Amino acid sequence: MSKLQTAGTSRPAAAATGAVSLQIENISQRFGATVALDSVSLTVEAGETVCLLGHSGCGKTTMLRVAAGIEKPDAGTVHLGGRMVTGPGVFVPPEARGIGLMFQDYALFPHLTISGNVKFGLSKLPASQAQAIAREALERVGLARYGDDYPHMLSGGEQQRVALARALAPGPGILLMDEPFSNLDQRTRESIREETMMLLRQSSTTCVVVTHDPIEAMSIADRIVLMREGVIVQTGTPEEIYCKPATLFAARYFCDLNEIDGEASGNMVRTPIGSFSPAHKVADGPCLVGIRPQAISLVIAGTEDLEGTVVSRRFLGESDAVNIAVAGLDNPLHAHLPTGYAPAPGERAGIRIDPAGVLAFPQKMTT
Ligand code: ATP
Repeated sequence: MSKLQTAGTSRPAAAATGAVSLQIENISQRFGATVALDSVSLTVEAGETVCLLGHSGCGKTTMLRVAAGIEKPDAGTVHLGGRMVTGPGVFVPPEARGIGLMFQDYALFPHLTISGNVKFGLSKLPASQAQAIAREALERVGLARYGDDYPHMLSGGEQQRVALARALAPGPGILLMDEPFSNLDQRTRESIREETMMLLRQSSTTCVVVTHDPIEAMSIADRIVLMREGVIVQTGTPEEIYCKPATLFAARYFCDLNEIDGEASGNMVRTPIGSFSPAHKVADGPCLVGIRPQAISLVIAGTEDLEGTVVSRRFLGESDAVNIAVAGLDNPLHAHLPTGYAPAPGERAGIRIDPAGVLAFPQKMTT
């Protein structure tokens, strides 16, 4: 039985839960010479979970802070549930925006009890009502019995759940989360992430989650917003953005591609290791071909697309990471293969490449 109260996964209609939409339009934000956001626009529908994904410094946190009202942008507007909260002559402070905030370090107050932390945002309510709401919020995250303890007495995972209870207690229309799982160790992170998102889906809360981890984004987002250097480079469902990356940058973000020079003509790309029909068409001419490691499989002699020599093989538990040298390529192909099947280093291997895992981009799109 999960620690969070997560029975059932169906989502109530957003309108029934008070979830609100977020609309960011043409937001620009500079810090000195740094352009943190460059005329960025984004709409998050009520009840939707959107992940802002990108490398460090691309502007994810700034976007979240602008939405929260912690940062006043140089230009642009923010609407929450259709109400302008940032815009010309308008700036609603964070505490009046009806948002829930959750940070990477949880930002729990060390001198307050767990119950006191959760009640913090409920100070306008009568004490008995605040107490009841805090208790219910702690019950939802399975921590009601810790109400009188202090944050330092709880594990990292428990502190994360207190932060979640505190953010949700006032019944926010939208929850803004900045790397909320990154302080947890790998094993705890996956289970807490799953439980947290299930809880949020049940309540149909609108969520914006900042992360730099593509696997995390794919596992929690309805829609991913991929950012780079202050702009949005692509938005889409996890499947859309993974399977149809609009740029080489997007493809590389989600996959450690084998990159090979090629020449596109019609529906085919020609490379030093053969011709492929890539997953999407690219304009005729020089191109860069990306082969996903998992698109490479080993086959019995006589049925292979090409032959190579195993250079190295690393056991990774659920798969083997194998490097295979192939005539015509400067670097070996790297593949993820089922454990135990790859020949030992130095041995020959027959290779087949699944065209669904072959991407092609115009050569000029080098990043
Ligand atoms: P990270 O994943 O490392 O948190 P991020 O994508 O969230 O990065 P931001 O924190 O939004 O990126 O920062 C975007 C850019 O703006 C960075 O170059 C950062 O150094 C700069 N920046 C952000 N806040 C400030 C500030 N208060 N003063 C000066 N520069 C800032």
